[in-house]
Amino acid sequence: MSLTLARRMGALRSSAIRDLLTVTARPDVLSLAGGLPDPELVPHERIRQEVDRVLGSPDALQYTETAGWFGLREVVAARETGQVAPDEVVITHGSQQALSLLAQVLLDPGASVVVEEPAYPGALQVFRAAESRVLTVPLDVDGMRTDRLEALLDSGERPVLVHTVSNFHNPRGATMTAARRAHLAGLAERFGFWVLEDDPYGELYYDGPPPEPVATHSDRVIRLSSASKILAPALRVGWLRGPREVCAAVELVKQGADLCGSSLIHQVATGLLTDGPWLDAHLTAIRAQYGARATALHSALVGEFGDAVEVTAAAGGMFGWVEFRDGTDTDALLRAAVERRVAFVPGSAFAVDGGHRHGARVCFTTNTAATLEVAVERLAEAHRTLVVT
Ligand code: PMP
Repeated sequence: MSLTLARRMGALRSSAIRDLLTVTARPDVLSLAGGLPDPELVPHERIRQEVDRVLGSPDALQYTETAGWFGLREVVAARETGQVAPDEVVITHGSQQALSLLAQVLLDPGASVVVEEPAYPGALQVFRAAESRVLTVPLDVDGMRTDRLEALLDSGERPVLVHTVSNFHNPRGATMTAARRAHLAGLAERFGFWVLEDDPYGELYYDGPPPEPVATHSDRVIRLSSASKILAPALRVGWLRGPREVCAAVELVKQGADLCGSSLIHQVATGLLTDGPWLDAHLTAIRAQYGARATALHSALVGEFGDAVEVTAAAGGMFGWVEFRDGTDTDALLRAAVERRVAFVPGSAFAVDGGHRHGARVCFTTNTAATLEVAVERLAEAHRTLVVT
């Protein structure tokens, strides 16, 4: 059968991370590859109670508004900084859908967009499907190099939007400094682009909250966030917060995408997010657990690899980033690592046009400190086989 697909399909590649999940699903493999909450720390019981409660209401299984259950939009608006009204919020099927809908609303084919590099692959997937021209700006331990963005703009580039993961970057682990946030917002005002502040990890901080969102500095910022990392990915509850006009346009394309989200799940999320004492206790508990794991992974990596690597200490989120200063090719390291029953995501998975061959993303959330140590021992064994051969 000859299959002729739309032109935009030519730019799409299967996500290297999704493909890796088949390897990491093997029970004997210790995975540092995912980006998932620990199933043990997902509040199953509390979610079950909430589902039971919501099922008692007559509209639990009915369609809801395209922009999402009004009560949930109110909760999200109240959790965002500044004065936010419910019609400045759209609830989406995870924040990934918010990215995809925003691309439909804002980007004509061929429009330029800027992403940080190494990049969040889910954003690349969206921008490629939108047939965008993807430009990159590097990232260091202080987040996006906004000086390099300014240079790009000064050279005449006019992106429609700039995507940033401002807090606990996926994959780089970095958090943008307050000064760079203000700089980015100033550039958005001056050059008239949108900032998509993609922030699913901001509440998962281990050494105190990150700086104020980029959105506090400018109205040209659309914020995206999610319940996936703090409650459960399977709820598929994410949201965007932006100017009314943008939300209204997103609502129009969302009508075509899915009519509406799940009113059952929106009400469940509303119940969880409005139960302040429970939520505070839950967040405190997961921050303590993940924070201890982040420290354990960092110490194990430094202990095993020493000067051969530079490790970003994760102050939040789910990821550390390892840069192999000894020139190790992390694609080759992954092959050796899988033989020794450990997996991670090589830097090449986050490259826009090749590169990051010496980097690795390591996730610390799904393993205990003791298991992380074993995983790093296995990784070091794999590393030794490459150095010897
Ligand atoms: N943005 C970033 C930076 C992410 O890392 C993720 C999840 N991997 C998402 C968005 C999407 O998350 P969700 O759709 O579950 O909210």
